Amino acid sequence: MRSTSAVPELPASTEVLIVGAGPAGLTLAASLRQLGVDFVLIDRNTSVQPGSKAAAVQPRTLEYLERIGVSDTLVATGVRSPGFSLHDRERTLLRATFAELDTPFPYVSLVSQQTTEEHLLRRLLELGGTVHRDHRFIGFSTDFPGVSVTVAGPDGALQAISARYLVGCDGVRSAVRTAAGIGFPGQAHEQLFTIADVRLSAAGQELVAHDTTFFLSGAGMLLFSPLAGEQYRVVSPAPPGQTEPTPSDVQRLLTERGPQATVTEVIRASTYRVQERVAEQFRNGPVLLVGDAAHTHSPAGAQGMNTGIQDAGNLAWKLHAVLTGAAGDELLDSYHAERHPVAAEMVAFTALFAKMASVRDPVAARLRNGVLAAAASAPGATDWIATKLSELDVSYANGPACGLRVGDRVPPTVVPGRDLRWTLAVPETEDLPQQRRNLGVRHVPDLDEALLVRPDGYLFACGKPTELLDHLPTS
Ligand SMILES: Cc1cc2nc3c(=O)[nH]c(=O)nc-3n(C[C@H](O)[C@H](O)[C@H](O)COP(=O)(O)OP(=O)(O)OC[C@H]3O[C@@H](n4cnc5c(N)ncnc54)[C@H](O)[C@@H]3O)c2cc1C
Repeated sequence: MRSTSAVPELPASTEVLIVGAGPAGLTLAASLRQLGVDFVLIDRNTSVQPGSKAAAVQPRTLEYLERIGVSDTLVATGVRSPGFSLHDRERTLLRATFAELDTPFPYVSLVSQQTTEEHLLRRLLELGGTVHRDHRFIGFSTDFPGVSVTVAGPDGALQAISARYLVGCDGVRSAVRTAAGIGFPGQAHEQLFTIADVRLSAAGQELVAHDTTFFLSGAGMLLFSPLAGEQYRVVSPAPPGQTEPTPSDVQRLLTERGPQATVTEVIRASTYRVQERVAEQFRNGPVLLVGDAAHTHSPAGAQGMNTGIQDAGNLAWKLHAVLTGAAGDELLDSYHAERHPVAAEMVAFTALFAKMASVRDPVAARLRNGVLAAAASAPGATDWIATKLSELDVSYANGPACGLRVGDRVPPTVVPGRDLRWTLAVPETEDLPQQRRNLGVRHVPDLDEALLVRPDGYLFACGKPTELLDHLPTS
């Protein structure tokens, strides 16, 4: 989908300059547009990039995307995956179902990253926003309290644009991160992975269930997942030096390691290497990092794009609150404080999972599979996995869990949220305060006290309704 036609010239200044119109940048832009924040979004590419990459949109991501009007159409396009399985090619070792999760989206939506980006872009355009394509971030200098950014336009001519905040959504090789001098410590692995989207002649029993399945056999790990359009995703370690896997390479992987199915067409296939890195700071003064610019890890577990979209949801309302004067600039420090630990934990979790899945020694592999099968029957184990993968476990609370704590996610099944307004949920025994422009007010059954819910769906405060309104960081 191109969006270069009728795009206005870059203005001389903006409140927020967003670099990168991938899933993170598009989510941030659509959110800011919905909130009425002035921004400019640039991308060096001339269109949404073709390809699949992130194929799984997790329940927590769908909850946020519902607030910006994207989930319904996205879910309608994708395939619903009801669960996640580990299999040893003879039996299911472990199955975690999403069906019991406390969310309006008790499934993973399997849809290509290109489609997700197209839906985000469509929503941004509907809201009256735009992407300045063919514009490349070159560098910036401090222009207190903001920045002066140099951008190269389609003809290569340089232009300066001043911005109060600069947000790098420019991916793993982020030029914004480099220009801001923010370190990106971590490691790059030598192991090469094949990723292929294919069509099959016939699917085995396991495929009918539409689970995303890790096959863990002595021959090696293989991830197998249905996609929209009767396609399937295959991911498996590749031999060193392989660059473009052929159809017979993909078939061999399935035959050796996966379900007994015949590949009839390879739609796209490539290889990639995993890096595990988290930026030292997600904020450095007027510069903020979102998405892969801030963190990258193994695609095992399908979390990268999802984490980036939720970064954007965390940042959008904070930028709005600060730029409207409802909160001080220090609110933006909480973006790093909340999202850095989430990313660090995600990197550790996916690294552990990838290490466990790639055990090749036959004795160790048998032992691993036995442990996994035993773990599956431990009380709460598969529920824990489903909650973790769906990212519904993300919380910014510090204290021990006992009911809802400030910083916990408030399930939309308890307090629905279909836009980016704050929500005041009031016990049915109390009177409702008046609605305000940026605040939805509603009665909610079975509440002991009122809950003030942030635009990204986390608990901001609880107590008496009138007291909560005094703390509302919005106009
Ligand atoms: C093979 C593979 C499979 C994956 N599978 C999954 C999965 O199943 N689930 C999941 O959640 N994640 C998955 N991921 C990760 C996911 O693709 C990324 O996390 C996601 O693309 C990050 O989004 P982003 O918007 O942060 O960055 P990107 O998608 O990288 O977008 C960055 C944008 O910035 C633009 N840009 C870069 N530099 C500049 C510049 N100097 N000036 C202007 N524009 C610039 C680029 O053109 C691009 O449009 C996978 C990744 C790979 C490689």
